[in-house]
Amino acid sequence: MSFHALGFDTKILQAIKDAGYVTPTPIQAEAIPVAMAGQDIIGIAQTGTGKTAAFTLPILHHLSQLIKDGALSGIKVLIIAPTRELVVQIEDNIKGYAKYLPIKSVAIYGGVSERPQASALRHGVHIVVATPGRMLDLMNQKHGDFTALDVLVLDEADRMLDMGFLPDIKTIIKSLPRKRQTLMFSATLSKEIEGLTHEFQHQPKTVQIGKRANPADTISQFIYEVPRHLKNSLLLHLIIQPTFKTVLVFARTRHGVERVGRFLKEYGVKTATLHSDRSQNQRIRALKDFKAGLFQVLVATDVAARGIDVEDITQVVNFDFPANPEDYVHRIGRTGRAQANGDALSFVTPEDRNQLSNLESFIGKSLVRKKALGFDYNGPPSLSSEEEERIDDRRKLGPRNHRQEPTQKQNIPPTHRKVQFVTGTQTTKRNRIITSKVNHKLEEGTLGRAESKGPKKWIPSEKTMPISKTKNSERERSIGKKHVAPVKPPSGFWSKAPHNKGGSSKGKKR
Ligand code: AMP
Repeated sequence: MSFHALGFDTKILQAIKDAGYVTPTPIQAEAIPVAMAGQDIIGIAQTGTGKTAAFTLPILHHLSQLIKDGALSGIKVLIIAPTRELVVQIEDNIKGYAKYLPIKSVAIYGGVSERPQASALRHGVHIVVATPGRMLDLMNQKHGDFTALDVLVLDEADRMLDMGFLPDIKTIIKSLPRKRQTLMFSATLSKEIEGLTHEFQHQPKTVQIGKRANPADTISQFIYEVPRHLKNSLLLHLIIQPTFKTVLVFARTRHGVERVGRFLKEYGVKTATLHSDRSQNQRIRALKDFKAGLFQVLVATDVAARGIDVEDITQVVNFDFPANPEDYVHRIGRTGRAQANGDALSFVTPEDRNQLSNLESFIGKSLVRKKALGFDYNGPPSLSSEEEERIDDRRKLGPRNHRQEPTQKQNIPPTHRKVQFVTGTQTTKRNRIITSKVNHKLEEGTLGRAESKGPKKWIPSEKTMPISKTKNSERERSIGKKHVAPVKPPSGFWSKAPHNKGGSSKGKKR
């Protein structure tokens, strides 16, 4: 099937061609005719399958027909998605596919000023892409007239439920016209999603690609069994290999992300971080610079990385093993997108073994165990996670717990700028262990020099980077996960025709 056969307006076909798409993906081939016919859809598709185009292209076709009839006026489409990154990405896609049409869109999300968003809502936009929290805030202030709305899209509905957005979504939908088309997409089909379907949709057609949420076939998956205290050094050991070009690293917590980011930066790896404690501008900047190739590594939490589409990610590294199999599928779906090849590497500590076997039964296969060539599994830790945690705890307690300020950073060669030493009086067993580990490294010449004799305690060489709290109205909540039926795409479902896989409306093409 070709995009021509789907009956799109010629201006949309031109934009699709510019994006380098040759044939529709299965979810597109199935969903587009149903959406063009004006029917409601519940689309079950894993990430990276082309579902954004599956709902945006029919919407744009509908608006192009209104333009022809001189009837395009007011907000016609509302798309709700769970995270700011996804909202920005969807709106970016829309701009690309609508580049030959006089259609205006706006991205609405928290963490930035409301004013330009409110003003865009007042001054004639046709498509609004929004996170639920900020959308509701603006609606409560009477911004946005949705009386002319034709289409509502709920993207990644499962995630929005997990994040506790259901009450906001219900309130938003109450103020929309009842007569509308509702398209809902979810990676999994659960009872809760079916509940939403009954509540908000009218005789929806289910479009399901495959049965299980298996990772794309283009991704090679490996397990690295490693003790917890060697995770940092293993990561560094791998990342400096030439094949590690554009690497996305997942850590479980915001502090974990900062710790790993700091560690890599200290060893000269160009690294950006993404998590919900960073301001919206910092997040947008980190993602933009990572996409532009200014950083080799992006370290992120699950929530922040949800939905991000960066071309040519060569490796996804699960530095911390994902808390549940669904997160694993989403994480590794960040590589191997649109038929590109990619590796997914997961560090597994002895404590993670149960989760690994859960994952293996979820995806129905056992993952390949790999050893990093040339890595000393018996070597000393570069700096163990526990020690990093201790540093963080100490930072949180404030400077009075530091008996002495760190010595000047410039005295220490940058590659060795790991820890510095100050004289302390506490000769706890813990301190003695750390001191002996550090001295071992000093003997090896892998750390900066000690400044003093006697019992030592060590503190980080750099002060904690200030973590700005976002003022946004979004809630990135920790999630109580449920096990739900997964979905799998059939193998080899991407077009074999040589399309421009980097040719979406995103990134360097635009
Ligand atoms: P999504 O699942 O919407 O995040 O899309 C994943 C990636 O597939 C994006 O980079 C899209 O630009 C790309 N893509 C979408 N549709 C097609 C298509 N028909 N052919 C090739 N690539 C596509």
